[in-house]
Amino acid sequence: ESRQVVIIGAGPSGAIAAALLKRKGHDVLVLERQHFPRFSIGESLLSHCLDFVEEAGMLDAVNAAGFQRKTGAAFAWGERYSAFDFGDTFTAGKPTTFQVQRADFDKLLADQAALQGAEIRYGDAIVSVDFDQTKPLLDVRREDGSEYRVEADFVLDASGYGRVLSRLLDLE
Ligand SMILES: Cc1cc2nc3c(=O)[nH]c(=O)nc-3n(C[C@H](O)[C@H](O)[C@H](O)COP(=O)(O)OP(=O)(O)OC[C@H]3O[C@@H](n4cnc5c(N)ncnc54)[C@H](O)[C@@H]3O)c2cc1C
Repeated sequence: ESRQVVIIGAGPSGAIAAALLKRKGHDVLVLERQHFPRFSIGESLLSHCLDFVEEAGMLDAVNAAGFQRKTGAAFAWGERYSAFDFGDTFTAGKPTTFQVQRADFDKLLADQAALQGAEIRYGDAIVSVDFDQTKPLLDVRREDGSEYRVEADFVLDASGYGRVLSRLLDLE
């Protein structure tokens, strides 16, 4: 199988990148080893996150999902306390963001990327890579243990804590 772009991981970075590339007319295959919804840590978004969500054409869906709206942040340490209002900015930007449950948020973004035409395969894990050929080659293992090979013009590692390329290329 030969594809233009293969993205490793369908978390927020993989889903957003897939949608952005698809919107520019590229062929995109996303390979995700888990099945969504799945637990992930990192629920508290900053306002700027929504700029990328918007650029990827997913803001209406995120706004409609009913996540808890977040207008700022406060930090306390003993007697010390400081609060930040996200609307109190020096430059243009969104004044609010969301506190999300990542399982639901990540599934929503991945579903939006799929709606825009990105192909996402769940339960398929990248197990080895070969960058010494004319084009990168990825070996992928399905849940039933069978394997297949994908050739790509570009590989984007969005595997987050999976650290796929850094692990496989011994770059950690
Ligand atoms: C304790 C803690 C608290 C945090 N709190 C916040 C917070 O409040 N706000 C915030 O913005 N960030 C927070 N973060 C950071 C946040 O969790 C990450 O930045 C975010 O999850 C990264 O998203 P991602 O899409 O890059 O990767 P991930 O969300 O990690 O997604 C990567 C995907 O790749 C898949 N994958 C992995 N290996 C393979 C493989 N071999 N083959 C195929 N697929 C694979 C995984 O299954 C996963 O679905 C926190 C992190 C920690 C540790």
